[in-house]
Amino acid sequence: MALPIVAIIGRPNVGKSTLVNRLAKDRQAIVHDQPGITRDRTYRPAFWRDRDFQVVDTGGLVFDDDTEFLPLIREQAMAALTEASAAIFVVDGQLGPTAGDREISDWLRRQQVPVLLAVNKCESPEQGLMQAAEFWELGLGEPYPISGIHGSGTGELLDELITYLPSPDELPDREEINVSIIGRPNVGKSSLLNAFLGEQRAIVSPISGTTRDTIDTVVERGENTYRLIDTAGIRRKKNVNYGAEFFSINRAFKAIRRADVVLLVIDAIDGVTDQDIKLADRIIDEGRAAIIVVNKWDAVEKDSYTIYEYKQRVMDRLYFMEWADIIFVSAMSGKRVENIFELVDLAVEEHRRRVNTSVVNEVLEEAVKWHSPPTSRQGKQGRIYYGTQVSSQPPTITLFVNDPKRFNDNYKRYIERQFREQIGFPGTPIRLLWRGKK
Ligand code: GDP
Ligand code: GDP
Repeated sequence: MALPIVAIIGRPNVGKSTLVNRLAKDRQAIVHDQPGITRDRTYRPAFWRDRDFQVVDTGGLVFDDDTEFLPLIREQAMAALTEASAAIFVVDGQLGPTAGDREISDWLRRQQVPVLLAVNKCESPEQGLMQAAEFWELGLGEPYPISGIHGSGTGELLDELITYLPSPDELPDREEINVSIIGRPNVGKSSLLNAFLGEQRAIVSPISGTTRDTIDTVVERGENTYRLIDTAGIRRKKNVNYGAEFFSINRAFKAIRRADVVLLVIDAIDGVTDQDIKLADRIIDEGRAAIIVVNKWDAVEKDSYTIYEYKQRVMDRLYFMEWADIIFVSAMSGKRVENIFELVDLAVEEHRRRVNTSVVNEVLEEAVKWHSPPTSRQGKQGRIYYGTQVSSQPPTITLFVNDPKRFNDNYKRYIERQFREQIGFPGTPIRLLWRGKK
């Protein structure tokens, strides 16, 4: 179940980790005593009264300091905020409002997310109210005096907080995995859907474009619920009707956008066509996980090629999608159709996977040792300071460098290959963002 997310934001050392530990169900997490240390975003389950949610600590959000990792910290906090239903902005009540608090407040007021202001380290009730009152000036509404260490005041804060969270009946019971079945007309999309369902529910016809509208079918298998999105496919040029063709491509593109995982269905007899390549391009642009499904394998003369040879031919044309799994099926006989679900589960997992910052940087360090970044004619060399995964779906890694312009495409591809080799991410595209220092 996708629980609402609450982002905990604030300068280093104001007591964010302490508060997270108090809110979270499992109390084992460690309070870091080094101020300003960058951390990965960690999601921890929490609850208050009958409401479940997740808290994510964002590392210190610093605006007025010029440490090397500042952009990183900020990026992490921003990424956390985009997925959050609400945020708790933590400040240090013993210190009073600082310039940094004001800067963060200015920024927070411009965001869409409701913000609660928690004035931490207010152990004494009377003094606490006075300390908290100083923070009205931040313009974020009522300051809540709390003590993360003692737990005082957090009840009122949480009562207010849960009013901002979507109620449980607004959340889907089980998370659905959206699987779009994409491909040219007649490759066997409807047949595949029928094979999934094990019954002739959608009408299969040899005439292309019969299934005109996108049909969603929900199936449950084991732990998972899959929403299968079928499209009518893209009409062949020779079918003239240009308007309808345009509409179909559009629909295929829309189905790609809705997908967690795209099944790119290829007709084994025709092989990979230009339209298939166009669809593959789109899948990558949208950052969707994908599986290449070669259908009608029963119709291929087994003497013509082995699966291995055929796979090579497909991958030669879809080389830019080499991360995708490829499976040979027959929707007609049902052969291997079930196995598609295993690949879907794997791809979804990889699409959502988060990798520790330490691992990212280990890969980078190794990569740079083997092959140092290019040096320009002026003798200026590219430097990679630090990398971290800033989001998933698809996995996105930001690299902080001295100047992105110093890294040519060759080098960028080399780094991406290293991530693929060392971390994997099969089934999903990955994105690398090259950010300069500033
Ligand atoms: P973070 O950097 O914002 O995550 O801050 P931490 O949770 O690591 O706390 C920073 C320091 O403030 C630690 O030394 C904590 O013991 C202290 N601290 C945290 N919460 C409270 C509190 O409610 N009262 C007091 N007096 N100190 C606190
Ligand atoms: P769609 O337009 O992509 O939905 O394709 P359909 O599912 O309507 O199938 C188009 C044609 O291909 C029909 O005549 C199907 O019987 C045939 N077909 C589909 N799957 C297979 C398969 O696995 N093997 C063979 N030999 N024919 C298939």
